[in-house]
This record gives sequence, C-alpha cells and structure tokens, in this order.
Amino acid sequence: MAALVAARLTHFVLKAIPFDDSPIYIWSDMFVRHRTTEMNSLLPSSNWDYCPTSENPADLLSMGTSTEALMSSSLWNYGPKYSSLNKLLCVSSYVIRFVGNLKAQSQQRQFGLVTAEELHMVNLKWVKDTQQAIYWKEVNNLQLITKQPRTPRALLVRQLRLFLDTDGLLRCGGHIHNTPVNETTKFPYMLPPRHSLSKLAIVDIHVRLCHSGTTKTLTDLRQSYWIPAARQYIKSILHHCTVCRKVSGKPYSAPDPSPLPKLRTQDVHPFIFTGVDFTGALYVQQRRQEVKVYLCLFTCATTRAVHLELVQDLTAQTFLLAFRKFVARRSLPRIMISDNGSTYSSAAEELHSLMQLPEVKEDLGKRGFSWRFIPKRAPWYGGFWERLIGLTKIAIKKVLGRRHVPLSTLETIIVEI
Ligand SMILES: [Zn+2]
Repeated sequence: MAALVAARLTHFVLKAIPFDDSPIYIWSDMFVRHRTTEMNSLLPSSNWDYCPTSENPADLLSMGTSTEALMSSSLWNYGPKYSSLNKLLCVSSYVIRFVGNLKAQSQQRQFGLVTAEELHMVNLKWVKDTQQAIYWKEVNNLQLITKQPRTPRALLVRQLRLFLDTDGLLRCGGHIHNTPVNETTKFPYMLPPRHSLSKLAIVDIHVRLCHSGTTKTLTDLRQSYWIPAARQYIKSILHHCTVCRKVSGKPYSAPDPSPLPKLRTQDVHPFIFTGVDFTGALYVQQRRQEVKVYLCLFTCATTRAVHLELVQDLTAQTFLLAFRKFVARRSLPRIMISDNGSTYSSAAEELHSLMQLPEVKEDLGKRGFSWRFIPKRAPWYGGFWERLIGLTKIAIKKVLGRRHVPLSTLETIIVEI
C-alpha cells in the first residue's frame, strides 16, 4: 500500500510540476507484490529501490516516536550509515564541491566526476574528524607539547610515538624511519578500533584484494592506518562477509547417527530379528519371452546373514510362499522389519500394501511374531538391508552382465551369491 501511495503521489507531483526526462527514484522498505500494474501505468520509467527499515528515517514518524527519541536519533541527525568507503568518499566529495562552487566565481566552478585528488582530500578530512572525536585527549596533549615541550606525554602518545603532522593529523612514529617507503607507510594514520570509518577502510581493502584473508588485509591496512588490536577486529569483520561465507562456509552437517537399535546388538540366533525388502525388477528368459522377476531379501539384523528368494510377482500369495520357504530353511523370526515405503526400492511401497492385506496379517499373526516398519528418513534403521540389496544387485550384474538368463539359471546364481 505504501508503495502505491508513493506512486500516486509522485504521479500527482509530476503532473503539477513537469520535470523533463529527469530520472525518478522511489525507495520503500517493503517488497512490492500487489497492484504492480497500476504502479507501472502511473510511473512506467521510475526506479524502485529497497531501503531497509533500520535505515529508513520516515519509519520513525510512521511508527510513532517521542520528541526526545527523535532529537537524539542519529538516523535523523546524521543519516544512514554508508555501505562502502567509496560511496562515503564520493558523496562527501560532491557535498564539499557543491559548497565550494557556491563560494566560487562561475568560471572557477567544478563539474563532472570527482577526481582522485578530491577523494584523497576528503578521506583525510574523515580521518581527521574521527581522530579529533575519539583521540581528542592525545591531540590536545600533542598540541600542548608543541607550545610547552616539558609537558608530560599521554600514555598512548608515548606507547605509539604519536605525533601531529603538518595537516594536524595524528600519526604513529614506528621504527622504520629510514626505510625507503612512502611517508604514509612509515607513519600510518591513527584510527580507532570498532569505529565505522575503520570498518569501511578494512572492508574496502578486503574487497579490493579479492576477499583476501585476515593477514593479507592487515598487511595492506598497515600501509596507511594504524588500528590498535587490528587483527581481532579484522577477523570479526571478515567473519560477517557474505561473499566469503558463501564460498568458504561449511555446509550444514548432518547430526551424528544415533546408536544402533537394541534388536541389532542382541546376542540371539540368526534371523530372530529379520529385515526384508525387494530388489527392483530383474529380467529372465521364459519361453522366448522376457519375464520380470524380483528378489526377496531376508537379512538378519544382528549377524547380517542373507537369504535370497526369487519371486515372480509382488502378490500376497507369492510373498507368503517365499516366506514359508525362508522359514523352513532358516528359522521363524520373532520380529520382521521393513522399509516404510521410501523411494529407494521401487518394490518397497508394494511391500507396504502387501503387509496390510488381511490374509498376510492373519497368517503372520498365527505364527506368533510381529511386523515393524522403520521410521521414514532413518537410514541407520533400514540401512542394513539397503546396503545388502545394493551388494546383491552388484553381484548379479557382475555375473550376468546384460544377458537375460533362464529362470532356473538365475535361481542357481542367487543361491551361489
Ligand atoms: Zn569477503
């Protein structure tokens, strides 16, 4: 709604005061989804931009605020924080140039893009402003020393051998006076840690050096600025860099698997706890035709022993016949476990519905054991037979290749496996 009102208002203003071909910018702190057709017809050539709520000065008034809060609001007094050092310097340069142009004669006025010289000067202005706001004690102390050389030096002045240069900027003395490097590297400008200007300077260097690490950013920073405890500060800033986090951030790691269920670790006879699953369809030759068959895999949950039965379809009768063969050859299990219709095996879903059939349930119930389905998305539960199904398939593939053998041959092979 706010965006629509803004569009209507702008349209009204444009009708009253026609601006020729001037670009129109509209900022809103909410995403526009509705009534975009009306907005586009009112202002077809406007530029819509997003302004975060925390940086939207209009939000204070629309949400309501007290006079005291408004008077002390840094957003209203100083505007939103700058997103990059370059933006800060460019905007400040244009402001300073505008003020200069007001004072200058018309021939001496400057126009066009800001020059490197202007950017450099305005950067020094910001550094000086920050130093005088934060290190005013040290600056006063040094000014006093110039007048009265016997004045005792402040702690930081002594520790960092601070001095004021000819422009009144606070610089660090250091130990490399005789090194053949430029003056700024020998005597870097003092900047406070945890200050927005320091942060912008660090981010600027970090981005300029293609998102380099802490050490490289620090080395480059020290060629111009001295920030106490800079390494930790850079580390904390780079930790929040979105680009770096996207590239080098670790993926979300899966939680550690929980311990094996009790029935998989008990000391019992083989096949007391049995998992069952079907493989996907296999093809055999029968009367010169290709016929689908399936493998029914019984596996012991504790010993991982495997019993394979060949079945010709996935009906209840066929499964029960296969199950009877299994029971006769091995033993009657106490608990049968199977997959809860997950997607791994195409037969799993059919198995699930198979177990729900009344005749199967009745028959199994008579034999005195229960059936369990494992929870969904819990591979450490069902993994023990999925792995064996995979192994069985690989073994069959290695033996048969792409051949379609007769049913009896396949029966022999699965017993061999
Ligand atoms: Zn980065």
